[in-house]
Amino acid sequence: MIEQIKDIAYLVSSVLFIFGIKQLGAVRTARQGNFLAALGMFIAVAVTLFQELSYELIIAGIMIGSLIGVVLALRIQMTGMPQMVALLNGFGGIGSLLVASAEYIKDPLMGPETGVTVVLSVLIGGVTFTGSLVAFGKLQGIVTEKSVMFPGQHLLNLILILIGVALGVLLNIDGFTLGSWFNAMSMDAPSGMALISTVIGLSLLLGVLLVIPIGGADMPVVISLLNSYSGIAAATTGFVLGNKVLIITGALVGASGIILTQIMCKSMNRSLMNVLLGGFGTTTGVAKASGDGPEIVVKKVEVEETAMLFDSASSVIIVPGYGMAVAQAQHVVRELMEVLQKRGCTVRFAIHPVAGRMPGHMNVLLAEANVPYEQLFEMDQINDDFANTDLALVIGANDVTNPAARHDQSSPIFGMPILNVDKAGTVVVVKRSLKPGYAGIDNELYGYPNCLMYLGDAKDAIAKLIAEIKANA
Ligand code: NDP
Repeated sequence: MIEQIKDIAYLVSSVLFIFGIKQLGAVRTARQGNFLAALGMFIAVAVTLFQELSYELIIAGIMIGSLIGVVLALRIQMTGMPQMVALLNGFGGIGSLLVASAEYIKDPLMGPETGVTVVLSVLIGGVTFTGSLVAFGKLQGIVTEKSVMFPGQHLLNLILILIGVALGVLLNIDGFTLGSWFNAMSMDAPSGMALISTVIGLSLLLGVLLVIPIGGADMPVVISLLNSYSGIAAATTGFVLGNKVLIITGALVGASGIILTQIMCKSMNRSLMNVLLGGFGTTTGVAKASGDGPEIVVKKVEVEETAMLFDSASSVIIVPGYGMAVAQAQHVVRELMEVLQKRGCTVRFAIHPVAGRMPGHMNVLLAEANVPYEQLFEMDQINDDFANTDLALVIGANDVTNPAARHDQSSPIFGMPILNVDKAGTVVVVKRSLKPGYAGIDNELYGYPNCLMYLGDAKDAIAKLIAEIKANA
């Protein structure tokens, strides 16, 4: 009876997770989706705890974990979110590794069905853990952001994976057969403990080796992939424990992580195979680094001139980017939107899928500043409208507006879909300098005849612009 109630509760929480994820797909329903998923998790945890357990350790674990989680979440800046996600994925991975190896140590004669999943949990969990730590270190500047490559790296990784699989097979062979094999070679058979420890060590080493060749520039894609790995590790641990809800949630994380990875790859013009093999982010094609290309002649404008442009504009598309996040300019941007709307100007926001440093970065910031969802448009929805727009205001966005992506085959971002800001009547770009963005390349847009550079910190520059527009009114 208790088992049946538990199964029904797990089913309810799984349904809540699925509806939660579905609702997270649209900005309008995202909050409710988050609530549903959290409710599902609450039910799953409560039901799991409702059995014979020693609660002292569990309560101590929950308290320590929650405290660390709350402190980290409160202290992290929005710009540091990718690192935070990397760490959380890593903890998921090590959790799976520890649970699966503990199950093995408890019952080494568990049989091949469970034994296989133990090995998979340990291998994938270990790779996720150290891989995520390296990703965290790269983004935090603790480990070099550069790609670390050495000859035969991929071959070594492949050999290590094969050794891991071979050890996994050995772990699943009964002691008697194993003993006779090794006796035939006049060797002592390794103990189960030695085998599992070696698999753990190997997986931890593999995690480091798989992520070090990847440049810091591509770390967010790797983090999304590691997120998927952490889900797969959790699902395999679910099989080890015979816990259905863990299998379902793990599979959901695994699948959604891989889908997100694919979306990011597409938006950045990379292939998923390229990601899976690692070693990317070194540069594709011949990168024209900043300063290498022909000198771009830019037209700089001051606040007075910029305000006059807005005075005469009846339609404006605002393009936010990473610089808006750095400057925390979302609130002044919303104020600018309101000021312009009061004057009868149509204001819309164009959101590139990889603007900022993680998917949805701009949506989150603008939602925080209470910009209505109806005014946010995805690239495909709005790209054709730039041509009919008086003014495109680019705030701290760079790569996602670079027309070189359309035609310059030597550019590392060639093929990346971009926002057609150059098609607008006038483009005003707000950034602090003429330095390049994430991809490290010059933006030819800045030399276009219809492009004006209004240089300054996004928050200050927009605040000054608002004051000037109001003063002109
Ligand atoms: P970019 O990194 O291309 O450009 C951001 C610009 O913001 C910089 O050129 C910088 O110029 C400017 N900036 C920085 N601080 C400020 C400030 N305080 N005030 C005003 N401007 C500022 O960002 P985009 O959003 O255009 O593009 C995102 C890039 O990130 C793409 O290359 C994408 O591939 C990559 N990426 C995105 C991921 C995602 O999921 N979103 C994942 C992985 C990579 P200056 O220093 O002169 O001020």
